[in-house]
Amino acid sequence: MVEGQIGYSDNHDQRIYTRGVFKNITARKLAERKIEESEKRLKTFFQSGPDAIIVIDEHQQILEWNPKAEIIFGYTPGEVVGKPLSETIIPHQYREAHKKGMSHFLKTGEGPVLNKTIEITALHKKGHEFYINLSVSNVKVEGVWIFIAFLSDITERKKTEEALIHKEAELLQAKLLEEKKDEFISIASHELKTPLTTIKAYAQLALSLSKDKEQEPIQKYLAKIDQYTGKLNILLDELLDVSRIHAGKLSLSQTEIEMNSFLPEVLNSMQHITQDHTITLENNETAKVKVDTLRLEQVLTNIISNAAKYSPGKEKIIVKSFKEDNSIVVSFTDFGIGIPKEKISKIFDRFYRVDEVSKDFSGLGIGLFISSEIIKQHGGKIWAESIEGDGSTFYFSLPIMN
Ligand code: ADP
Repeated sequence: MVEGQIGYSDNHDQRIYTRGVFKNITARKLAERKIEESEKRLKTFFQSGPDAIIVIDEHQQILEWNPKAEIIFGYTPGEVVGKPLSETIIPHQYREAHKKGMSHFLKTGEGPVLNKTIEITALHKKGHEFYINLSVSNVKVEGVWIFIAFLSDITERKKTEEALIHKEAELLQAKLLEEKKDEFISIASHELKTPLTTIKAYAQLALSLSKDKEQEPIQKYLAKIDQYTGKLNILLDELLDVSRIHAGKLSLSQTEIEMNSFLPEVLNSMQHITQDHTITLENNETAKVKVDTLRLEQVLTNIISNAAKYSPGKEKIIVKSFKEDNSIVVSFTDFGIGIPKEKISKIFDRFYRVDEVSKDFSGLGIGLFISSEIIKQHGGKIWAESIEGDGSTFYFSLPIMN
């Protein structure tokens, strides 16, 4: 049949429709066209596929080098086609191994890197090494092996991975350091407590022996020693509490109490904490709670001490208790410096202190951490509200017993 005519195919001819005209072409032509189309597809893939594609022969000579390979490795096809692969993108330290690998494959047919994806470094034209993903397939064409390598640049992924590993290592190091710090704090506090207790005991003994009028100044100094060793003792106890909390060993010895008799009594005994402020209990709700009274006193001491410390020149600290759902809530209001809004969530963290106040007020940043752990262990909550410059209100809640 003549090309361009309309007709039907016999065994060898077929009837196809192209650009509005039926054409009959032979099976051979159709096969040729199929090959052409397939070649075109392959060429497109080779030209603009996502990976670098490099084809080498069994002498390592580069046969093909696609545009992506040029982008990744910096060499144009003209610069590398015909050259041995080991003189281009293989880093110097791997070149010998690559040659050996190739001759081993030609002798035995074994190639450990063939037909799998591996991560490896490659050499850029400019001389720097970088990470690539490499998959190599081998085919025999007319009795000769050729190797097709697909390569992609994974520098960015590697960077992210390395950054992650680095971050994890840093975190681990910080954790180890924290643990060492905790261990040190625990040992140091124990070691310091023993001589301190002895100093305090001697100060008290000397105080009791120096009753003469002439010895009044000495008595005053001894009383100061007694007072300050007492303060140091409290600090060391707090540091030991931090270690106990860290080790999960802060145990409670709970008894049932009536909150409205506990609160006035404890607050009364706490008035000595501050000479400048009056602590007033404005609302005192009845509620049965199960608490470790010593630990709860510790919480109150800490909150009241802070209220006094962070409100210099003010006169009032107001305490209230009220019921909310099945809990009793106790609030402590001061009219002091307040806490910046963005820092409120951090003040219960271990060793946290608001930067701005650190230079004007002394402290270790552990009182609220211990308080929050104590309240949490009682099944309660602790939180704070504050307006910078106007004052703060601290709250804790405890579950009421039925
Ligand atoms: P310390 O007072 O020893 O620094 P705390 O754990 O008791 O440690 O308190 C943590 C931080 O919370 C303090 O350093 C301070 O910045 C802030 N803070 C606590 N109570 C108050 C308060 N009543 N008013 C203002 N800031 C407070």
